[in-house]
Amino acid sequence: MSQQVITYPASKRSDIFEQMHESQNWYSIEYDGWRLPATDDARADCGKWLTKGCLNVAAHKNSQFPGKIYIKTFQKSCYRSCCEVCFKKWMARESNKATRRIEKYEKLSKKPAKHIVISVPSWKYYIPIRELRKEAYQILKKVNCIGGTLIFHPFRYSKKVREWYYSPHFHVIGFGWISYTEEVYNENGWIVKNKGVRDSTFATFYYQLSHAGIKKGYHTLTWFGDLSYSKLKIEKEENSDTCPLCEAKLKLIFHYGLYGYVPPPETEVELYEDPEGWHIVESKIPERKASKPCFVIYKKHKPLYDMI
Ligand SMILES: [Zn+2]
Ligand SMILES: [Zn+2]
Repeated sequence: MSQQVITYPASKRSDIFEQMHESQNWYSIEYDGWRLPATDDARADCGKWLTKGCLNVAAHKNSQFPGKIYIKTFQKSCYRSCCEVCFKKWMARESNKATRRIEKYEKLSKKPAKHIVISVPSWKYYIPIRELRKEAYQILKKVNCIGGTLIFHPFRYSKKVREWYYSPHFHVIGFGWISYTEEVYNENGWIVKNKGVRDSTFATFYYQLSHAGIKKGYHTLTWFGDLSYSKLKIEKEENSDTCPLCEAKLKLIFHYGLYGYVPPPETEVELYEDPEGWHIVESKIPERKASKPCFVIYKKHKPLYDMI
């Protein structure tokens, strides 16, 4: 995954994570199954540091590191929005994907995306979210929003009482010459606020996802109009997880030294090393006895093999 620098004002970004901790009810607030991110326990190996690499020394013969293997460390992640350890990785991944979609349309249309907030009239607060979303699409059509993405926020934060409370609204990153907002308010009660063009689309997504509504089986981001999946096709992002020496796909590897499994350093590193002691993680657990932690986890979580 390509990484982007977050340029959103640091104050606002840290604000939300502070609120998370200072608010009385981040973990408990719930409406019809909708919750805030990061309220669930992590899996046993979430955040665990592992290594992947390319052990194909023969293919590196004519590279700048002949005789060496390539290794890099990474943190295992479940990428679930509800995971207390991995939710930021989920935010970054989703923001990255969504930004690519927005940027593609910006290029095609030669128009920048806008941030729009549409709030549900209070007398409609308790109709099913599915219905609210449908109505939101209709409202967006009426105000001439031609497409974009919708992020549902069930809750707002009160700084005064340091609590989140139910107040459903949608954030839209979308396109169009937004008009007729007053007419829409008078007719339907929905409040449409055009916040205009943002500095960084990625940072806007990142921030909006940090306190978005999360519910199992529901997408946090949905696309509509000109940016819907049927209308806008996006090339798959190139997999950057390849060996810089021979371009082969990286595999999950581990170091097995004289005294057993050697865990990697708990930080991001890239190395060109001698091949001794390095092994590819096979789907079959090696027979010989290894130091426990590493292998226990591999056994418990089979998907680890599917990752590579
Ligand atoms: Zn996780
Ligand atoms: Zn290689």
